[in-house]
Amino acid sequence: MRATILCPYTETPGENGQSLNPLTRQMLDNNNAGCEVRYIPIDPRHHLRYAELLAEAWLWPGDLIVVEHDIGITEHTVWRFLDCDQPWCGNAYTVGHDPIMALGCVKFSAHLKAMQPGLMDRARLGSTPYDGGHMANGDWRRLDGNVSSQLHMLGHTQHRHYPDVNHFHPYPR
Ligand SMILES: [Zn+2]
Repeated sequence: MRATILCPYTETPGENGQSLNPLTRQMLDNNNAGCEVRYIPIDPRHHLRYAELLAEAWLWPGDLIVVEHDIGITEHTVWRFLDCDQPWCGNAYTVGHDPIMALGCVKFSAHLKAMQPGLMDRARLGSTPYDGGHMANGDWRRLDGNVSSQLHMLGHTQHRHYPDVNHFHPYPR
């Protein structure tokens, strides 16, 4: 297995249904380079679940590629991740007016995962559970920053891939 692709989406039973954009799924199903795509629902009321899921996914085989529920990859995105030997890669997407690189479209190499088996646990647990205030380290709203911090502390810089990917719906908050 060269990579396993995680596509997390929120699912609220009996309310708004699921957040997985049909175009996100279509692009992933058609352009996954033969890698397994795991579509995993998250109850949005469980703010720590995404962090737990990433810690679980850290143990999956091969590179870990994350494509979030409202991101539209291109036909090249997964192939270029697989072809790249950098440990931490991503494609930018627009949030508001600015392109950012975050967890929406990212690759963590199998080598990085093997060398840093505790990285996701450090990102979600921190030195104390609430060292940033009243929001737990593992809260999904802090996860991008905490994962990036862990990698920056190890001396890594995220390798930006082009072209940018689509972000289908405006940032909801
Ligand atoms: Zn790369």
